[in-house]
Amino acid sequence: MQISDRIAGILGGGSDGWEVFNKARAMIADGVNVTELTIGEHDIRTAAPILQDMHRAALAGNTGYAAIPGMAALREEVAARVQAQSGVPTGPENVMITPGGQSALYAAHFAVCDPGDPALFIDPYYATYPGTLRGVNAVPVAVAAHADAAFQPRAADIAAQAEGAKSLLINTPNNPTGVVYSRATLEGIADVCKAHDLWLVSDEVYDTQVWEGAHLSPRALPGMAERTLVVGSMSKSHAMTGSRCGWVVGPEEIIEGLINLATHTTYGVAGFVQEAALFALRQGPAFEAEIADPFRRRRLIAQDVLQGQNAVGLVPAQGAMYLMLDVRSTGMTGEGFAYGLLESEHIAVMPGESFGQAAAGHVRVAMTIEDGAFEAALRRLVAFAESHVA
Ligand code: PMP
Repeated sequence: MQISDRIAGILGGGSDGWEVFNKARAMIADGVNVTELTIGEHDIRTAAPILQDMHRAALAGNTGYAAIPGMAALREEVAARVQAQSGVPTGPENVMITPGGQSALYAAHFAVCDPGDPALFIDPYYATYPGTLRGVNAVPVAVAAHADAAFQPRAADIAAQAEGAKSLLINTPNNPTGVVYSRATLEGIADVCKAHDLWLVSDEVYDTQVWEGAHLSPRALPGMAERTLVVGSMSKSHAMTGSRCGWVVGPEEIIEGLINLATHTTYGVAGFVQEAALFALRQGPAFEAEIADPFRRRRLIAQDVLQGQNAVGLVPAQGAMYLMLDVRSTGMTGEGFAYGLLESEHIAVMPGESFGQAAAGHVRVAMTIEDGAFEAALRRLVAFAESHVA
């Protein structure tokens, strides 16, 4: 039997970029003590009060089919949160609750791209992006952001690829670089979107993890609310990765389309999960700051460790749970460095190349282990790099 080209082609014929990660996991299975700085997941679990609320909701009977666009109270809470954060008038009719940010990314592109439409995204990128775009039968087109511009994308580079494109996908705070797009970068992006009539899909799942300045949603820029779909999630802000609860915020007619899509795909998100998400959002900003705090601390630890040496460069970054390290002084590719570090130091990091060619010669470090172990691993990473500087 033949499977569809569409599903066979999700990876685009290339690798999925997870080889080093898979090798690290195989080493762990063989009993090797590997320090993992690979995946973007907190080293804490979902807080007990959130789980207790989920349990309460389930026992109270919220175990049947839930409203497909999401519970009214949760849609209202997300709308209020987005409005408070961005200043853009937002109501529940602008919110679709989805099973996590990943499915929100898929749904958002399904809503704005037809088969064969070019869909722009910024390289370096979160590893699933090209596959998500291919999944809706769009044609992924990478626009490079450059290391020498601290990975802030340039409007002119986006404009150069925008002819005929339908959408642009951006992510700030950024995975994998940790870079937070400046107001000037976002204004440039907004101008290109308006000039070329592009939808902007704005992945803001790290919006609570900003270490300098404040998160700016491009939906708040003039003329952008009508063409921006914001992707949000409980995963990173509330350490609820496994609960699978996120959202798309956008114009009402898009949300209506997304309800039809969900009716024929996911059929919504479990009601007890939505109640727990509502409970979690109502804990307010202090709780979110508590969840983000380990990454804030570890970024400072990393800045300290990386001071006063030249083997490893730290990409100036202001957010998210990652650091991007420039290892080009070693003469190695990011992949070569990551394999070498895994083999000789038993430390697993992600090669920059897993996130696109613009991050070649870099490695991504997830700040997702306990402070002392994190600092020790970084010191060994620097020593490994120093021993290879040409
Ligand atoms: N966007 C980005 C940039 C991410 O890093 C992730 C998860 N690593 C997601 C979206 C999806 O997260 P989730 O589906 O858990 O909300």
